[in-house]
Amino acid sequence: MTVPQLALNDGHSIPQLGFGVFKVDPDEAERVVSEALEVGYRHIDTAAVYGNEIGVGRAIEKSGIPRDELFITTKLWNSDQGTQSAFDAIDLSLEKLGLDHVDLYLIHWPRPDLDRYVESWLALEQMRADGRTRSIGVSNFHRPHLERIIAESGTVPAVDQVELHPAFAQRELRGFSEPLGIRTEAWGPLGQGKYELFDEPAVAEAAAAHGVTPAQVVIRWHLQQGIVVFPKTTSKERMATNFAVFDFELAPEEVAAIDALDRGMRVGADPETATF
Ligand code: NAD
Repeated sequence: MTVPQLALNDGHSIPQLGFGVFKVDPDEAERVVSEALEVGYRHIDTAAVYGNEIGVGRAIEKSGIPRDELFITTKLWNSDQGTQSAFDAIDLSLEKLGLDHVDLYLIHWPRPDLDRYVESWLALEQMRADGRTRSIGVSNFHRPHLERIIAESGTVPAVDQVELHPAFAQRELRGFSEPLGIRTEAWGPLGQGKYELFDEPAVAEAAAAHGVTPAQVVIRWHLQQGIVVFPKTTSKERMATNFAVFDFELAPEEVAAIDALDRGMRVGADPETATF
């Protein structure tokens, strides 16, 4: 099973399908990530605020997988935005992960009310220059936030990781960011289980037609649009089925039927107003 590698705007590349560990209990993270690596995932998406970087790091070390075959993302938490605080935050994340660099470091939320995301972005540029991260990007950034960091730094983020699933397809934002060379990463790609996505006829009928699960259909919908996706589960069986998505293809009309589920419905926080 070969996961496509997508080119980033800085010369690096990213495995299009990965594994996310939001809400994976710190005590379970080592087991869960070890199983994900056994299944074949090589791209892990964590964050300082998830509290599970130590478990992720242990799983990486125990796996014995060469570092250059792995793609590890972590994120700068909101309370660490700034310059020195951001440098300290990545150093702590690297220590917990047991790594000397990550592949991708993201500003987790813009928190426009704090007005420190530009300063933080300049710090991320320095982290990339000194090798603590290969690529830099953002998460939950809307067009005005992207425009501002690009104008003030000249650096276009490699990715914008945003809430994205069939009911919240982010077409307008993607129409702005992707032509600039910013890759879209989907968080909550399965809608976080917060609405009846798998019962939608467009999803259920495609699943029946291809003899796959509804989750596989939704992951395929992401992949066929060039989106980077990393569904989360703590079940090894689901890890395996979520990864087995390269031996079928949705027809254009099946994709269109799922596209029609877009209704601008968030399941998570609004980046403009989030205050955590
Ligand atoms: P998700 O859409 O991946 O949904 C996870 C839920 O789906 C879990 O409850 C799981 O039990 C269920 N699920 C997974 N596979 C399934 C299957 N095959 N069949 C039925 N149910 C299944 O939501 P998520 O975890 O929030 O998002 C994925 C990743 O995105 C996270 O783990 C994290 O790495 C990242 N994320 C980032 C942000 C951000 O602000 N940048 C926010 C949330 C998540």
